[in-house]
Amino acid sequence: MIEKVEDSQITERKIKSYKHFMKPELWSEIQMLAVKLKGKKIIHVNTTSHRGGGGVAEILHSLVPLMQDAGLEVEWWKIRPGHDFFEVTKNIHNTLQGDKVDLTPAEKKLYLAESKKLARDFEALSADTWIIHDPQPLLLPHFAKNIQPAILRLHIDLSKPNQKTWKFLQPFLDEYKRIIFSRHEYVFPGFSSKKAEVFSPAIDPLTAKNEPMKKEAARMILENLGMNPEKLIVAQVSRFDVWKDPLGVIRAYYLAKKEIPNLQLVLVGLTLAADDPEAREVYEKVKKYARGDADIFAFYNPRELQYDNNTLINAVQTGSDVIIQKSLKEGFGLTVTEAMWKKKAVIGGNVGGIKLQIRNGFNGYLVDSEEECAERIVKILKDKKLASLLGKRAKESVQEHFLAPRLLRDYLKLIAETISARKV
Ligand code: UDP
Repeated sequence: MIEKVEDSQITERKIKSYKHFMKPELWSEIQMLAVKLKGKKIIHVNTTSHRGGGGVAEILHSLVPLMQDAGLEVEWWKIRPGHDFFEVTKNIHNTLQGDKVDLTPAEKKLYLAESKKLARDFEALSADTWIIHDPQPLLLPHFAKNIQPAILRLHIDLSKPNQKTWKFLQPFLDEYKRIIFSRHEYVFPGFSSKKAEVFSPAIDPLTAKNEPMKKEAARMILENLGMNPEKLIVAQVSRFDVWKDPLGVIRAYYLAKKEIPNLQLVLVGLTLAADDPEAREVYEKVKKYARGDADIFAFYNPRELQYDNNTLINAVQTGSDVIIQKSLKEGFGLTVTEAMWKKKAVIGGNVGGIKLQIRNGFNGYLVDSEEECAERIVKILKDKKLASLLGKRAKESVQEHFLAPRLLRDYLKLIAETISARKV
């Protein structure tokens, strides 16, 4: 089954509201591309529109209405595959991020068979360009010939993919006109440089999650959730996923707490996403691991909270004294961008897309171990001046590189190229 994300489920956005975030050249470039692409139809396909379902949904909630405001006709479709499909695609995701375990023949068979069924549901649709996000809908252009020209957007950390999975996917990747990667390092060796496109994701400064919130208001929300506003707070906002290393975060927190007893830890990974079957398991481990320390707060079930997702995330990112993103693999890491935008000193794992965002010691810290992470937590908490300098530079670098208008321009440019290449 497939399902359209109706326009009524997407908040309308106007490009002109973002004008003050843009340099004049960027503004003019978007205007020119908009004229060129007026009326063109674009279809985005992914797995979820649920906020908290990860970075792709987050991005599409801004990108789709901004593209519409640019004058394109844009539709957003989600796939709703049968049982076990997401178990398999999670394994594909994990192996592309470097897991050594190989896909079994049965898994490949299910992936192919389900994709074929899903493709049938798309047969009646047509577009000037299709944008397929991540491995779950990756096989659709193979099974539905109307899904062309197609661009694949891979959001995952492809620094060291499992070669067998790459080989398996290769013929399907060849069917795409272009593939977008977040870093040059992710473009796999031998891949046609004409097809590869590199640009990073971005955050929307005008969502409820990223709009300015007073620190006192944020602390009040955290207090209502049981935290002590008098104590220091470190936090990680992330789906409960092994690559996000929540257990490593807890260990780093325990180490830091030896020096700063006055410390609380918040882990937020609100989960509804059906495409992430492992989250519950990881959350249960976190709870077990955190047992016995009343200063650790883990939020998993959005139905148990009195705040909506965006308010909660904004409050945690604004109200915390340090933000951690101790990922072991990270395609890009929007949570890093979001916290940097809020002038936070962020401690990130020295991996993937986090390295694109944090320059170690300049606008945050990159760490390779729990010990180093703990050391940096203590350093930042003890030196308020340092924290505010890192935070100031962090916000400046997000303003320069990682805001939604730049991402809109990159997509429009690529779509224009894809459409004109087709005419030749
Ligand atoms: N997120 C959220 N609620 C949560 C956890 C995460 O809204 O409880 C959002 C987070 O703010 C960010 C996105 O989900 O916008 C996660 O994107 P990121 O690139 O950091 O990681 P991904 O989940 O895509 O691997």
